[in-house]
Amino acid sequence: MTALLLRNAVAVRWHPASVEPVDLRIDGDTIVERAPKLSPRGETVIDLEGRVVIAGMVCAHTHLYSTLARGMPPPPRPPQNFREILETIWWRVDRALDLDMVEASAATGALDAVACGTTTLFDHHASPSAIEGSLERLRRGITRAGARAVLCYEVTDRGGPDEARRGLAEHRAFLPDARFRLAVGAHASFTLEESTLAQCGELARELDTGVHIHVAEDPLDTAPTRIYGPRTILAHAVHLSADELRAASEAGCWFVHNPRSNMNNHVGYAPVAQFPARTALGTDGIGADMFAEARFAAFKARDAGADVPPERVLRMLQAGHELASEYFGRPFGTLAPGSVADLAILDYDPPTPLTAENLAGHLLFGMDARHVSSVLVEGDFVLRERRFPSAIMDGARAQARRLWQKLR
Ligand SMILES: [Zn+2]
Repeated sequence: MTALLLRNAVAVRWHPASVEPVDLRIDGDTIVERAPKLSPRGETVIDLEGRVVIAGMVCAHTHLYSTLARGMPPPPRPPQNFREILETIWWRVDRALDLDMVEASAATGALDAVACGTTTLFDHHASPSAIEGSLERLRRGITRAGARAVLCYEVTDRGGPDEARRGLAEHRAFLPDARFRLAVGAHASFTLEESTLAQCGELARELDTGVHIHVAEDPLDTAPTRIYGPRTILAHAVHLSADELRAASEAGCWFVHNPRSNMNNHVGYAPVAQFPARTALGTDGIGADMFAEARFAAFKARDAGADVPPERVLRMLQAGHELASEYFGRPFGTLAPGSVADLAILDYDPPTPLTAENLAGHLLFGMDARHVSSVLVEGDFVLRERRFPSAIMDGARAQARRLWQKLR
């Protein structure tokens, strides 16, 4: 069990914004004490010399399976619309995945996340040629990087009723633990029969969790009202009508805004100004750099002339922690006693004062994933001074030697 005293930290919380010089005592996986000065009690003492400490970032919607698609050969002809983007790119990629590729995607995607200070991933997984065991392989890959995740398998009728049934069953085969929780994945209304969507809702109730689904990313999709509930996660919600948006908000659903993905797919700008407080940020598979995603959220809002002040983006980052708290049943993101000790330490030494009042300005124009120097998950270092623990790279090198042996 870790016993750690972090001295001379500058604790930064996004919302309500606070910037405060503190010492933090960590016992096991939890922050147990926070005060301007704490005395050591025999634990390991680390003097942070004024470095910024934030709670590990939460990516509320991603697809680790897309990690190995980066830079892949383009489709035979450029997709002309959203459906063609799915058909010619993503539905070809996910169908080509086998379990080893799934695990490698998860491990490398999660390593990238940790390097950006992101410790919790809400992953939405699809590998229709390798459904059984895919969630377990995701867990294995993510565990190698030391991160945590809320996993789900993307249920859809696009591959026929048998694949839909097996997608549902894959959830039942997965046992959640301290670092891994389960949602019930559903692709989107437009690829789901009403009866399959209903089964997703029933399974979520049975497993005491929520449905994680794409909603109205493009005008071709509709609102899946029958699965609404306080743990339902709605990714995108770009094209919901005002009434639909109100209904989802009133049902207590979580919204996830993915500005970079929406821009990249040219699907339009979500009505973020009307989104509820329960709105977090996701990358939709474009890495896991939440500093970048937050910055795009703010700049896109300005570009669109939307009534979304930068402070609203800070609120979204904090909401990611609240979402994680609901799924893990423990407090995340407060940096207060009782909070899970998932932390990122930043070498951020700005040329201007850093205060609670100007925190949004620092996030937009300065603070960045490149400042992340160390990351802890449950009180253990998973990145230290920009280096991953030797065990990870030792393991990778052992595999590389095996591979090279085969190549000889
Ligand atoms: Zn997505």
